[in-house]
Amino acid sequence: MNRLIKTCYPFLLLLILFCSISLPTMATSMEATETEEKVVYLTFDDGPTPKITDQILDQLKKNNVKATFFIVGKEIKGRETILKRIYDEGHGIGLHTYSHNFKIIYKSPENFIAEMDKTKSTINEVLGTNLDIKVIRFPGGSAGRLNKNFYNKLCESGYLIYDWNVDLQDGIKGNLSPQCFLENSKKCMDKSTRRIILAHCNSNNQNTCAALDQIIAYYTKEGYVFKAINHTTAPYYYRFKN
Ligand SMILES: [Zn+2]
Repeated sequence: MNRLIKTCYPFLLLLILFCSISLPTMATSMEATETEEKVVYLTFDDGPTPKITDQILDQLKKNNVKATFFIVGKEIKGRETILKRIYDEGHGIGLHTYSHNFKIIYKSPENFIAEMDKTKSTINEVLGTNLDIKVIRFPGGSAGRLNKNFYNKLCESGYLIYDWNVDLQDGIKGNLSPQCFLENSKKCMDKSTRRIILAHCNSNNQNTCAALDQIIAYYTKEGYVFKAINHTTAPYYYRFKN
């Protein structure tokens, strides 16, 4: 028995030494991982629009936060400078169809994809770029619209879908109070610490803009990091039937 202790002693000593050094390091790296996992993506659909989009950009700039704008192609004309500003200030750019007309875009996957392609080329023309924008959002969300065939066609075209798990509800109820939008921003559809917040920048979204400061303050206090969506962001879409 004594011999066994003697033989094991150096190893035990090494083990104790290893634990005492590595434990604080492990704790730190766990904290770091937890922080990394708390990500929030603020997304604004339906722009660019006069006044509101600029006001939202002002708020984001003031708070040093990057967001993502899902652009509707037909809204660009006459608002090119707003689109340029979104791009120049480092926000994510996603496609949200050209017409936003549900009857046309959801007639066939081909129509839907053609509208995304058209919006992408319009954006590139205005920006003087050749961006391969892959990030898309379904108007009204993918639920009940996406199926296996549609999904495969989108994949073939290289598009990546982003729905949301937090809904400000400012699309249909734009006139709710900023306090109400703040409360809605805290409600997540799942238990994920990866939040994708749906917001809008239509002409009636003044109160969304007014709520932004508090929404950003809330998520910052909760330890979330704000990020823009790009092609490296894991897609997020609702489960669909075949
Ligand atoms: Zn929309």
